[in-house]
Amino acid sequence: MKTHTTIQSLQSAIDSWRSQGQRIAFVPTMGGLHDGHLSLVALAKQKADKVIVSVFVNPTQFGENEDFDQYPNTLEQDIALLEQHQIDGLYTPSIEQIYPQGLDSDIKVGEVGDILCGASRPGHFDGVVQVVRRLFEIVKPNMAIFGQKDYQQLLVIAQMAAQYFPEIEVLSQPTIREQDGLAMSTRNQYLSIDEKKIAPRLYQALLQTKQDYLDNTPVEVLTNRVKNTLSKDFKVDYFEVLDANTLKQITDNTSKIAILCAVFLGSTRLIDNIIFNKG
Ligand code: AMP
Repeated sequence: MKTHTTIQSLQSAIDSWRSQGQRIAFVPTMGGLHDGHLSLVALAKQKADKVIVSVFVNPTQFGENEDFDQYPNTLEQDIALLEQHQIDGLYTPSIEQIYPQGLDSDIKVGEVGDILCGASRPGHFDGVVQVVRRLFEIVKPNMAIFGQKDYQQLLVIAQMAAQYFPEIEVLSQPTIREQDGLAMSTRNQYLSIDEKKIAPRLYQALLQTKQDYLDNTPVEVLTNRVKNTLSKDFKVDYFEVLDANTLKQITDNTSKIAILCAVFLGSTRLIDNIIFNKG
């Protein structure tokens, strides 16, 4: 596996693969790799001839008081893991390569970026789309893989790709969890030992809400109930039961349900979701 620190070096490797007719899958990450990221790599390897992973902590998707400065940097360990998984290239760009004109951008994600995480983190999805667009322009993959763990992000990116990069196939992988149910996340490193014991209650609450929904409990009743329960352990940012395709209220036309939540445990923000057919 070669680590590319410049656009030129990355593109010359990709160009030579492409000239041999090989298909390229791309997995963008912010590093701090865990089994969730590696499941995306596994799908990429299955679907394409060559796999490129990027590690870039994107400043434009962090709010002013967020954790950009503390975000875990485990590059040596990430390289070892990616070597083990036999990917073909790692791209670790500088901020200047990604944003040669500076960080400002006039990208505005529409409606789907303004709700849920977008409401709590204004500008977050504008930054996500800004970096993914730039990475897509540089890598020009045949396909790109994202996790359902960040379900709203997946929808925002799929929408952006359909508009600007129709030639790139956007694929997704289900959320990988710890044995206790906690969704794997680089930010779990922030949790104390005591918090780690509490954190799995979020997934338990999602499962209970799914069951209550399937038992025909009205959405308003079950969201109020679960928020009350969760507020004993967490500060609830949002907890919503929505149409999984539109992230709007469920209607008669809804075929897939998304239960999505974000909470604070101490100062750590955790997000999680479950997606299922309406039945
Ligand atoms: P990040 O490094 O947090 O920006 O995540 C990079 C990619 O990994 C995104 O597409 C995430 O949705 C995905 N991802 C993160 N955690 C998980 C997980 N537990 N299971 C599956 N995919 C994940």
